[in-house]
Amino acid sequence: MRTSQVLKTRGRRVYYHAEGNPHWKGGTYRHHGRVQVLCPDHPNSGQNNYVLRARLVMEKQLVRFLNQDEVVHHINHVTDDDRIQNLQLMTILEHNTYHAQHQTNGRWARNFDCCAQCGTKEVPHAGRGLCNRCNDKRRWPEKWARLKARQNAI
Ligand SMILES: [Zn+2]
Ligand SMILES: [Zn+2]
Repeated sequence: MRTSQVLKTRGRRVYYHAEGNPHWKGGTYRHHGRVQVLCPDHPNSGQNNYVLRARLVMEKQLVRFLNQDEVVHHINHVTDDDRIQNLQLMTILEHNTYHAQHQTNGRWARNFDCCAQCGTKEVPHAGRGLCNRCNDKRRWPEKWARLKARQNAI
């Protein structure tokens, strides 16, 4: 076997199937804290031939392949803890709802009921108690000053 074999390219990333490669850990690698396993034969392996280990564990338990709209949630929120008792099957919708509620406890943001700057609840929370809009203003004051100047000119 060749020591270095390009599996597939995705964008500009290249995955090497080789012992000498520092990213090669016997067919698994981590992406955003989640463990991916090399499974070229899996029907749902992505473009790069990897499948989330959590999905494989769940599929083994259910003895079927997961659908694309099914998500495996980590109950203790440790995303590389792929023990079956830590995994819960959800739909994408259920999963999004769960995380939105869990993060904010039903409030607009975890520690804020509305934007600390403008008081809106309509615009999603960006960070530090500011909505997306106010956060943009804070981060790019020049851009907002320009926009405002243009509006005044009209
Ligand atoms: Zn989750
Ligand atoms: Zn705001």
